Amino acid sequence: MTILQFLQYFPDEESCEVYIKESREKAGICCKTCKSNTKHYWFSGGKFFECSQCRRRSSLKSGTVMESSKISLHTWMLAFIFMSATKKGFSCLEFQRQVSLSRYDTAFRLMHKIRAMMGKRDSLYILNDMIEFDECFVEVATKKQVKQNLKRGKGSQRQAKVAVAAESTPLENPRTGKKDRACGFYKMEVLGKVDSDHVNKFIKKNIAGDVVLFTDKNTAYVDIVDIVDTHYMVVSDKVSVNETLKWVHKGISNLKRNLLGIHHMITYKYLQNYLNEFVYKLNRRYFGERLFDQLIIAAVHPYVQ
Ligand SMILES: [Zn+2]
Repeated sequence: MTILQFLQYFPDEESCEVYIKESREKAGICCKTCKSNTKHYWFSGGKFFECSQCRRRSSLKSGTVMESSKISLHTWMLAFIFMSATKKGFSCLEFQRQVSLSRYDTAFRLMHKIRAMMGKRDSLYILNDMIEFDECFVEVATKKQVKQNLKRGKGSQRQAKVAVAAESTPLENPRTGKKDRACGFYKMEVLGKVDSDHVNKFIKKNIAGDVVLFTDKNTAYVDIVDIVDTHYMVVSDKVSVNETLKWVHKGISNLKRNLLGIHHMITYKYLQNYLNEFVYKLNRRYFGERLFDQLIIAAVHPYVQ
């Protein structure tokens, strides 16, 4: 959906309510008392659902990412369209300005709830087959920088470690015989430390099956061979490392450009949420205008709670 279409389809709160109600019915409504998806009746006067089995009532937002939020559905939907229709993303400050929210904190909390939701959605997916793995450092703001609202680069720097994995399938051009690699799904996670314990934990959580894992030579990777089928360590020059870890390195450079370009200050605490948003969009890079619908599906899906 484009921003123009959004304005046509969702001009007010009522049109958003109808859409969210229908989306929830399509996704299935989980009753918190019955602890399962049950048939629900809709009461349009009071704008609530009622479980057909136990009669528990729940609001339109209950059981979704919007639960307990006083923000209107229209504002939530505006956040979904801004975050999905812009390729690079949207800063909280920009969102606050565009939808005229009086408090920055409101925009901040709302957008981070959506980013956390994106992470939950992607956590359902496990990487398979051939996978490139590497880690990188991302600059995060220190408490002092946040407090004094210093410009980037001023004061002491802090680097956070991020694990990055990408599915990478070898391809051969049938005409030229030239070998290349096609990339699939990505995973990025803040890594407390780059040692074998932390790396192995990331691999166990995100990678499954008979995989071939490509990494560079790092002492933190020595035990990987115990948990994956095949571990291939590139030990030669920089050119072949860049060739073998092509997609993971592309992902890292795009991530850094994205984070530096949009957000004024990223703290360690919220870094994972920014990674979630970046990876969520990267993994759905071919979805185009359907990304908005995907966000709505994720937002009303019962698993988000
Ligand atoms: Zn029930």
